[in-house]
Amino acid sequence: MTALLEIQDVVKHFPVRDALGRRAGAVRAVDGVSLSVAEGEVLAIVGESGCGKSTLGRLMLRLIEPDSGVVRFAGEDLSALSPSALRQRRRDMQLIFQDPFGSLDPRMTVAQAVAEPLRLHRIVPKAEEAARVADLLSRVGLRPESAARWPHEFSGGQRQRIAIARALASNPRLIVGDEPVSALDVSVQAQVINLLRDLIRDLHLTFVLVSHDLGVVRHLADRVAVMYLGRIVEEGPAEEVLRAPRHPYTRALVAAMPGAGEKQAPLQGDVPSPIAPPPGCRFHTRCSFATEICRTEPPSLKGKAHRAACHLADSLPAMTLREEGLGGGARLARLQAYFRGNAPSPTGMGENT
Ligand code: SF4
Repeated sequence: MTALLEIQDVVKHFPVRDALGRRAGAVRAVDGVSLSVAEGEVLAIVGESGCGKSTLGRLMLRLIEPDSGVVRFAGEDLSALSPSALRQRRRDMQLIFQDPFGSLDPRMTVAQAVAEPLRLHRIVPKAEEAARVADLLSRVGLRPESAARWPHEFSGGQRQRIAIARALASNPRLIVGDEPVSALDVSVQAQVINLLRDLIRDLHLTFVLVSHDLGVVRHLADRVAVMYLGRIVEEGPAEEVLRAPRHPYTRALVAAMPGAGEKQAPLQGDVPSPIAPPPGCRFHTRCSFATEICRTEPPSLKGKAHRAACHLADSLPAMTLREEGLGGGARLARLQAYFRGNAPSPTGMGENT
């Protein structure tokens, strides 16, 4: 498959200042990341809060500038584009935010919110705008009459559908979803995941899913990249990474999923400060397998389709995961199946929202 998006050795540090405004260090949010996303692929970037995954998602869209490194979209270096060429490119790349309450302007009707990208990128003539908005709303499972209403009149799930309709308005090729379902109740999550899956398939979208929830990742992603303190520590096919993780950090995340059935020790301690990450392997302060070399030598990503940055990746004892519960998404999967109409109703179901 051809890469639609490629990032090479991208670095983004955010300066930290002391009380007198002097530079006192930097948060190393993204610290030398290389990845590619093939056309039509769903790549999930996972990790704990503060690992740099949301910053990476924004760097991919050039919503923030990298300190160094290259971001290429369809073979074009985004940093080499003029402001007007970048504006043109923006119609191909959209972002869905986590918070469906904050991402819509309360002063705009649904029609205005969805039509805004149509106008900005001159997608359809004015006379066809209302029909296009109605079509987009139908695509995301909302009635066309919703166009005249205001965001506050909708539930969280419905607002996220409006945000998705808005993201689709410019016919993008790439969408980055930053925790797109994590603010929603689990029954609504299942419906929005089904919707995203159908849209990705029907519109041949390339999708980057930024998420801390491996249950959601399991239902959407083709490939997974695991981030820890600004770096990728494991990357590979989603099914393989979740079934047989090679990096101790991924193993701990997978083992922590409800129903995984694995007795591995949970993560020790807190994530170290991204201002002064530990030397050697950045995970060594929390890793139950760490040896002397881990404290001094940073491991590089090794492997072909499934890569891990760990000195001991090939010699760790195997994990035994319970397949049924894997993904922490057994209930989510039942809800998804229910909303597709091919399973008996699970108990405790919310209304279709
Ligand atoms: Fe743990 Fe060492 Fe592997 Fe780092 S390199 S994950 S500290 S075993």
